[in-house]
Amino acid sequence: MADIVALGTVALDTIKTPFGQVRNVLGGSASYFSVAASMFARVGLVSVVGKDFPVEHRSFLGGRNINLRCLDVVDDKTFRWEGYYEYDMNEAHTVKTELNAVEKFSPKLADEHRKTKYLFLGNVDPVLQQKVLEQVEAPELVVLDTMNYWIENRNKELLKVIKKVNVLLLNEWEARELFSTPNLIKAAGKALAAGPEFVIIKKGEHGSLLFTESAHFSAPGYPLENLVDPTGAGDSFAGGFLGWIAKTRDVSEPNMRKAIIYGSAIASLNAEGFGLNILRSIDMKHVEQRLKEFREIVKF
Ligand code: AMP
Repeated sequence: MADIVALGTVALDTIKTPFGQVRNVLGGSASYFSVAASMFARVGLVSVVGKDFPVEHRSFLGGRNINLRCLDVVDDKTFRWEGYYEYDMNEAHTVKTELNAVEKFSPKLADEHRKTKYLFLGNVDPVLQQKVLEQVEAPELVVLDTMNYWIENRNKELLKVIKKVNVLLLNEWEARELFSTPNLIKAAGKALAAGPEFVIIKKGEHGSLLFTESAHFSAPGYPLENLVDPTGAGDSFAGGFLGWIAKTRDVSEPNMRKAIIYGSAIASLNAEGFGLNILRSIDMKHVEQRLKEFREIVKF
């Protein structure tokens, strides 16, 4: 049985940054999440691809402790995203989003996935997030991620599913947009009032903030000199975060702080190469080394 069930996109991405360009590489919220989380726990991936999805991508995911029983293959094209970054790499500019197979996707969980304790509702249409949430019998921790596309196109549906999750992940400009305030502390307060017990606001290279009703934690950003491609930073952060929680089976607030640092360590490593190139080649030794460096940064 999978420890974590992860819903999201499995995509073919075309990415341009000031340091180069790649075309039709493996990407998508579920891919980045699952590859990162699989360093800690077994993941059941829930998504859809078309018949054009390369067999080597499927073999790569399958070889990483990732259960692909709920990766549907349909007679359509795979989801495609094209984007670019300028020198401020905190902001992705979307050139094109082709939903393709995702447009008619109706996720149906395998029996073994319905019993999962840890659920990741990754960046897809909130209507699909709701559909998956309904199928899980008794989740202990549900983490939801989203993006401006859904905040703008499915606002009501998004707020409805946010109400039912335990952890909400947003980056800073998504938090401002969703809760209509420029102030992140106010946005976090409104987010907590909307349902989740934990709200994490990611600030790209400047770290992330955790808010609960009674606590506030500020995680530093890793001083990355070799930033090549930030695509997947949010999803690999989520994978390291929930991966650590599933491995330790501890959903307490102090353990969540540690999980945030694991997420930050993996996201910063991921950004040192294009697409999933770095996550393909690192192991836990690299992650633990980066964790040590994070400890040094906050010691005073
Ligand atoms: P992030 O972790 O936020 O950098 O997510 C990057 C991934 O999100 C890329 O690999 C894209 O394929 C995927 N993506 C882009 N737009 C969307 C969308 N509207 N819905 C779901 N996934 C998306």
